[in-house]
Amino acid sequence: MHSSMNNQANWQPPLSERVRNLKPSPTLAIDAKAKALKAQGADIINLSVGEPDFDTPDHIKEAAIKAIKDGFTKYTAVGGIPDLKKAIIEKMERDYGLTYSENAVMVSTGGKLALYNCMQAIIDPGDEVILPVPYWVSYPPMVELAGGVVRYLQTEPSNGFAIEPAAIAELLTSRTKAIILNSPSNPTGSVYSSENLKDIAELAVKHGFYVISDDIYDAIRFDGKGCENAASLFPEAKDRTLVINGVSKTYAMTGWRIGYLAGPEAVVKAATKIQSQNTSNPTSIAQKAAAAAIAGPQDCVRNMLKAFAERKDYLMQELPSIPALSCVEPKGAFYVFPDFSAYYGKKTPNNGREIDGSLAMADYLLDEARIAAVPGIAFGDDRFIRFSYAASLDTLKEGVKRLKKALAALS
Ligand code: PMP
Ligand code: GLU
Repeated sequence: MHSSMNNQANWQPPLSERVRNLKPSPTLAIDAKAKALKAQGADIINLSVGEPDFDTPDHIKEAAIKAIKDGFTKYTAVGGIPDLKKAIIEKMERDYGLTYSENAVMVSTGGKLALYNCMQAIIDPGDEVILPVPYWVSYPPMVELAGGVVRYLQTEPSNGFAIEPAAIAELLTSRTKAIILNSPSNPTGSVYSSENLKDIAELAVKHGFYVISDDIYDAIRFDGKGCENAASLFPEAKDRTLVINGVSKTYAMTGWRIGYLAGPEAVVKAATKIQSQNTSNPTSIAQKAAAAAIAGPQDCVRNMLKAFAERKDYLMQELPSIPALSCVEPKGAFYVFPDFSAYYGKKTPNNGREIDGSLAMADYLLDEARIAAVPGIAFGDDRFIRFSYAASLDTLKEGVKRLKKALAALS
């Protein structure tokens, strides 16, 4: 008793091993740092976070205002309101030719929670999940929080970050539970070919693992092709495909926090049971807004896509002119992921510090050029730096000017 009282001054609140092993989201951390610097008056070009710079379209906002005025402000069904589920089901039919029942769809507080609850529903401790590298920052922690083990599958810029089915086959074990696919991809902007996706879907059926298909950037592709995933290309894989999507990127609705899972009813039911114990339903008002977004006119999406394409074209005209920087042309999403490794080993002009990897490069760009970007190491590959071009053309032009100057100053 006495000794614990004596120790009171040094007492540290004990935390779980789970959280001690967990890293915070680096994309959100860098964005917070950039925003804080900006608030202090620093002239920051923030190309860090993946967040459309457009405002949410007016007809979507109106739907939310109407929901508030109508008093639609109470708990809803845990897995989402019928009109939003109907809009999602119609979207899946319209864009993918896939038919889902109401019980095969769960709406969540962002695509992130849909993914998290889905992983909690399918992964047992020791189960393995195959993850192509570079990957989006939140996949490994989500797998690990469910007790799973990530099996990394390196991909290369030389073939547009494609996945070889033979490379997947090499990683398969009796514990393989799933593969995570994200096409168009964050951070590379690559899109898997139809043949590639179909081959992976066939493998999933043959070996009995799930395809977690994160389709959150499906509306942002520059090749003019429509939406595709493992289930749409290989119908036998539909029961193995767990589709994740949401309104954050497509409709500039990051703050509304609406995403969804579509898949076999048993998995959706299990994920909904988990959701009933963590968040309950996603926000009632935001669900009405998301229903208006998905079921409403889509010209806002086309306009945003046009702007993203214009920005991507601008960057692909400028970046290749920077010596020693190589960059695969993105086919979708709103990120460029140039290889900076030829600059590693050089020294900074002010303090002669060596740029020994993507963290040091991102630090240098922030300190010297006032550009906030995400180091490739956060996505599992230290050669690269990710820039989001969900920013105005003027911002990008200033960013490119600063980038050229900062890189030229390294020796
Ligand atoms: N998947 C990917 C690949 C993403 O980039 C994001 C962006 N945050 C999400 C899922 C989740 O988005 P949200 O939770 O805003 O729906
Ligand atoms: N997905 C976006 C990004 O990668 C938003 C941040 C996050 O959710 O991690 O920047």
